[in-house]
Parts: sequence; structure tokens; C-alpha cells
Amino acid sequence: MPGESPVKVGVLALQGAADLHLSALKELGTAAVAVRGPRELADVGRLVIPGGESTTISKMLVANDLLTPLKERLAEGLPTLGTCAGMILLASEVVDGRKDQHCLGAIDLKVRRNAYGTQVDSFEADLSVAVLGAPRFHGVFIRSPIVEHAGAGVEVLASFQGRAVLCRNSNVLASTFHPELSGDLRLHRLFCEEEF
Ligand code: GLN
Repeated sequence: MPGESPVKVGVLALQGAADLHLSALKELGTAAVAVRGPRELADVGRLVIPGGESTTISKMLVANDLLTPLKERLAEGLPTLGTCAGMILLASEVVDGRKDQHCLGAIDLKVRRNAYGTQVDSFEADLSVAVLGAPRFHGVFIRSPIVEHAGAGVEVLASFQGRAVLCRNSNVLASTFHPELSGDLRLHRLFCEEEF
């Protein structure tokens, strides 16, 4: 609609890989802003939860008064992209997490943290993602989780070694890999253009 202001896309910037998500979103012409507190969260129409360390991001959500407002926005259907630690935070169940780590429960996934091993077990793989078409999407996996179970309402958009690595439900898109590191904007474009 002419004159209507574009939807702002927030990137949760408490810890982890926020900057490259912000640049990818800006490259797509999106109004992208860092989210560090409740007022910034209230102002965005879509949100990216980046990779990093899910236990630390969980603690910082509490320290920055974001846990409850974020849960509320997610329950209202806030379109959200979670990558790696972001997926862990959005999942309904975390195996090998810290006892005090919060689950946002926005997508019906059971995930196991650090399931491929330590930092040296990080790897890259070209993924076939039908919704993105050709060529394959270069996936960068850094201390990634494994999806042990995806619930009935979850659509698996890509798999690697028989495990889901990209999933979506009605408002959440979640990857075990880091799409902001591949120099390929297709996943961010899908997230920004998707009608949730
Ligand atoms: N292993 C991290 C965690 O548990 C996730 C790693 C990442 O986001 N690259 O949160």
C-alpha cells in the first residue's frame, strides 16, 4: 500500500551472530533493526533469533526483560527465523541443555544441543532445499543441534544425513545451520516474503 511503512525486521542482538543477519536483511532492502529490549521488540513485525550460545541468550532474555514479551509475541504468531542457537531457543524440548535454560516452545521440535561434537566437529554441506530451488544451499554447521523429533505440525524443508535441518510451522522457520554465513540471501528472502 502506498505510504504504508514497511514491516521492520528485528534481529535479537543479545549475544551471537546478529550482525551478518542485519547485513543480509539490509541487502534485501528490508528495514532491519537490532532488538535488545522490550520496546524494540514491540516495534518489529518479524524477528530473527541468531546463532550463538543458547544458554547465554536464554539468560540474557531474562536479564533484558525480554523473556515474557517474546513468549507473548510468539504466541500471537510473530513470524520468526531461528538459526542454530535460535532454533534451540524456539524448540519445545532441548536435550543436553542447561537445567535453567528456557524453551520458548514456538515450534514442536525436540533438539539435542552440540550433537555433532565440539567446535572442531563443525562442518559445511550443500543442502537440497526444494522451496529455494537450484542450486543447493551451502549450509554452515557450527556446534549445531540435531533435530531428534519434529512434531506432526512441522514441515521439514531440508534434511542432512536423514535428519531435519530446516523446518517450519505456521510462524516459525528454524535451521540448524547458519544461513547468514553462506553469502546466499535466499533463505532470508523466503523468511521476509513468506506470508505467515
Ligand atoms: N551449541 C550452541 C548452543 O547450544 C549453538 C551453536 C550455534 O548457534 N552456532 O546454543
